Amino acid sequence: MPVLAHLDLDAFFAAVEELEQPQLRDVPLVVGGDPQGRGVVATANYAARRFGIRSAMSAAEALRRCPEAVFVRPRHAVYRQYSQAVWAAVTEVVQRVERTGLDEGYLDLGGVVARFEDARPVAEAVRTAVRASTSLSCSLGVSTSKVVCKVASDRRKPGGITVVPPGHEARFLAPLRVRSLPGVGPRAEERLVAAGVATVGGLAALDDAQLQALLPGAVGRLLRDRACGIDPRDLETEAEAVSISTEETFARDVSDRAVLHAELRRMAGELSDRLTRAGLSARTVTAKLRYADFSIRSRSTTLTAPVDEAERIGELACRLLDRGLRDRPGALRLVGVGVAGLSDYRQLTLDDAV
Ligand SMILES: [Mg+2]
Repeated sequence: MPVLAHLDLDAFFAAVEELEQPQLRDVPLVVGGDPQGRGVVATANYAARRFGIRSAMSAAEALRRCPEAVFVRPRHAVYRQYSQAVWAAVTEVVQRVERTGLDEGYLDLGGVVARFEDARPVAEAVRTAVRASTSLSCSLGVSTSKVVCKVASDRRKPGGITVVPPGHEARFLAPLRVRSLPGVGPRAEERLVAAGVATVGGLAALDDAQLQALLPGAVGRLLRDRACGIDPRDLETEAEAVSISTEETFARDVSDRAVLHAELRRMAGELSDRLTRAGLSARTVTAKLRYADFSIRSRSTTLTAPVDEAERIGELACRLLDRGLRDRPGALRLVGVGVAGLSDYRQLTLDDAV
């Protein structure tokens, strides 16, 4: 039986800003948006949340709820550094992890303890390690499946650990609002609630015909399984990968340089997300070009310092494409971007500290 945990940093962007700018502590703080009411809230600290300010709310609404709120612009490079330090600390306690974002991910506690009963002290050790290395607070959910861990990590924020033992998964989920189940979006929620299914337990209890009518197809069955606490997904770790790439075949051959560049930048964003989630960075970036006659060219560059930022990977890929097209002009049927020479920046962080 798997012994898993989900870790979620508490109000991550805002917590980092409070550490970096102590005068912001205890004042309602909004990261994202501006004091003119433009843009969207990325994260609010707990002082701002007391006014009802939430992530994804418009800055205008946040301002209406709390006119004295302080707005700061997100600084992703700083958050990335903190995230690296957090995951370096986590992996000193639990080696097998799947990062799903800068501020959250799954941990395989089964690699540390054999019995579920022993999992709580490991989660406590992770929380302590995160606080000791970065002063950041995190919450954890511990259970036997990803979905239950994910829901559980949100139950005792900030700083709480929620353990849902084997056999209690469905009972734990049952009373929660149906929207708290990952995968149930606003539209599914609307349909379910309109049909009188307000809780996760209600979704779990639907028979096949009811389910088919409300949430047709495989998605409905998947969500009902999860509502029962059934979720066979294992952790996805990309740490073993030697390269990651993505490519796109066009419906028609493309020679417009702006279109090609836009496509490469989009793919660079995708690669950057995957690298960040896996805690990796890359030393080699490759652009792949396939011409109308199906011949393939690729151009690579190897860097002295590893990269993981979307902008940088995109910029390099565009330059490589330009170089390829200078060597051989022509319309392209396909473009691709790849990264290789992957290094684990948790490891790099440790090495750098020596
Ligand atoms: Mg979080």
